[in-house]
Amino acid sequence: MKIRVEGLSEKPLILSAQEPVSGYTALLEAQENGECVFLEPLQLDIRAEKEFDHVRVHGRVGTRARFTCSRCLAEFETDVVSEFTVFYSKATEIALEEEVALTEEDLVSAPFDGDSIDFTREIEEQVLMEIPIKPLCREECRGLCATCGADLNAGDCGCNRAGTGFTFSALKNFTVKH
Ligand SMILES: [Zn+2]
Ligand SMILES: [Zn+2]
Repeated sequence: MKIRVEGLSEKPLILSAQEPVSGYTALLEAQENGECVFLEPLQLDIRAEKEFDHVRVHGRVGTRARFTCSRCLAEFETDVVSEFTVFYSKATEIALEEEVALTEEDLVSAPFDGDSIDFTREIEEQVLMEIPIKPLCREECRGLCATCGADLNAGDCGCNRAGTGFTFSALKNFTVKH
């Protein structure tokens, strides 16, 4: 996604668009590497406004993706959403920009060339940051039995797993109670 800087005034420019993941090579790569499968196009909401010598862009990117749980190997779907704020300065003014005291934690400063700003890289980075290295179908996923390979989320397989004794039986009693 790109915007032209020329037409920007103090009045914020508000853009909302859907873009196919196929336009984002880094996301396609993540998909090819088996990190996830994107199920929906990217929903982009961008607010851009001219501020002093830079352009302040606040954006939200959202989609839905399918992951494979790193513990139980089950597939699950989840929303992938990220918000970001980027200050775009003309490439020649970036040094000046760094002198400005910035307080917002997620603040990123990026240069732009010529008279348009391309958000593609920022959007890619935001989505990639939301992709977990070890996806979990849920926080308390119990994974697979190391002995027989059964999905322990579905119940105890009956194997004797030494070392997990007390905690495990306590957990089991807890989940069986209604
Ligand atoms: Zn799981
Ligand atoms: Zn087992």
